[in-house]
Amino acid sequence: MGNFIEEIIEKDLAEGKVKNIITRFPPEPNGYLHIGHAKAINIDYGMAEKYGGTFNLRFDDTNPSKEEEEYVLAIIDDVKWLGAKIDKILYASDYFDIMYEKAVLLIKKGLAYVDDISAEEMRLMRGTLNEPGKESKNRNRPIEESLKLFEEMKAGKYGDGEMVLRAKIDMASPNINMRDPIIYRVLHAHHHRQGDKWCIYPMYDFAHPLEDAIENISHSLCTLEFEDHRPLYDWFVEHCEFEQPPHQYEFARLNLERTIMSKRYLKKLVDEGLVDGWDDPRMPTIAGMRRRGYTPTALKKFCELIGVSKANSEVSVALLESCIRDELNAEADRAMAVLEPIKLVITNRDGDYSEELEVDVNPNDESKGKRKISFSNTLYIEKEDFKAVPPPKYKRLTVGAKVRLKGAYIIECTGFDKDENDEVTTVYAHIIEGTKSGMDDGSVKAKGVIHWVDAKNCVDMEVRNYDYLLLPADGRVDFAERMNPESLKVLSAKGEAILSSAQPLSAYQFLRQGYFCRDTKNAGLVFNRIVSLKDGYKL
Ligand code: ATP
Ligand code: MG
Repeated sequence: MGNFIEEIIEKDLAEGKVKNIITRFPPEPNGYLHIGHAKAINIDYGMAEKYGGTFNLRFDDTNPSKEEEEYVLAIIDDVKWLGAKIDKILYASDYFDIMYEKAVLLIKKGLAYVDDISAEEMRLMRGTLNEPGKESKNRNRPIEESLKLFEEMKAGKYGDGEMVLRAKIDMASPNINMRDPIIYRVLHAHHHRQGDKWCIYPMYDFAHPLEDAIENISHSLCTLEFEDHRPLYDWFVEHCEFEQPPHQYEFARLNLERTIMSKRYLKKLVDEGLVDGWDDPRMPTIAGMRRRGYTPTALKKFCELIGVSKANSEVSVALLESCIRDELNAEADRAMAVLEPIKLVITNRDGDYSEELEVDVNPNDESKGKRKISFSNTLYIEKEDFKAVPPPKYKRLTVGAKVRLKGAYIIECTGFDKDENDEVTTVYAHIIEGTKSGMDDGSVKAKGVIHWVDAKNCVDMEVRNYDYLLLPADGRVDFAERMNPESLKVLSAKGEAILSSAQPLSAYQFLRQGYFCRDTKNAGLVFNRIVSLKDGYKL
């Protein structure tokens, strides 16, 4: 059984109602796409792909003041990156002439009129959910007069907001959207594609269904908040006399726990410098997630798991993380990196001693083979892996304890140095002979295994550990009160020498730490944490 949209499409095809499936993704180019849009694209493109149809990317660029070319380019890039094959890239603004003609047609049919009451008055006359609206004094203005005024609006005779064109539907409709909504407004603004050709612009609710009708969209798929607008959309396409009016079907939007899913608010974060641009790896934008190291396949998997339904719900962010973690667990090469280093000196090896150990590059994939990694008498280990005063059940290093250095030897800790602030600077240990990995007879038992890097052959690198941008809601509504002050932690780390040639975006599992990939923007050696190792979500 498919989802409810697939059922509708299959029925329409079986009954011959439609021959070709044509879908579109219709973003407004007023910001970058986010993970919610990935869900919409996965459905829009997914349906066209599954039923051998056509998928278009159409920019809903009917609102000139908020749109920018940068967003158009970024959106195209993101849709392609997500794996959708775009048949045509279209712009709603290319239909402004047709929209204007259709508006004139509505006036001629007595179904639209020019109104010049103030915006405030119009708001007050709209009524409420329980009370009907009031009709404007201009509602029954003669057709000829509205035609003339609309022509003058277009010619630039009026200032912004002075006059509007309204549909003449029903001020008493229980659906407020049907209470004589505005179709066109005066706005003297420069349009990113149309320049200064127009000083009247169609409203979204009028433009959107016409765009779908012009393009012969077979199934207009969108999110549930547009359900109440559907009767209006149907009214417009019917009275504008389109032969094959499209039908709209609504699915639940994606809400993700601790994630901002509004372009407007994401833009605010960018504009206020609270993040490092739209592609900051903490951002839930496609560009941010891509820079973070998410892959199109992981996002697709996530979209499949959340499914398509009509019930609004909030998805756990752990589900998203489990998708990328599962993929990287199978595919990422392994490496060692010490994120908060302290020195470990091996006391029973000389200063000029060094050897090469062999480690599995990726234990899930034998074809990748083994790689050599250098080991000497001076190493770095994690600060957390040594305790002068160990807590109960501590399985790592403390004086007298034995642990295995991953892929190397079992060592026994013999002492440590502290600085004036009581911070441990150096730990001392000796190798227990005969315990080399792979040649060990098992007679010596280690409490635990810790990772390390060779201090004499390692690279300095910056590691950026990310947390969510938002703190848990805890009853707070405003995002501004929920900003997580610790969403970014920058660490001066030490990594295996091989990491100096890591390719941007190719992921590594840093043993015991998580999955990381090299940043695409920084020239230096900077690694972003994609996701931690710990799995909070079990499927
Ligand atoms: P925002 O409120 O963030 O600006 P939007 O809905 O206004 O988002 P559009 O550019 O109008 O953004 O969205 C294009 C398409 O993406 C619409 O069809 C919309 O239904 C869909 N969409 C937007 N947000 C989500 C979401 N969170 N989950 C699923 N689909 C979404
Ligand atoms: Mg929108």
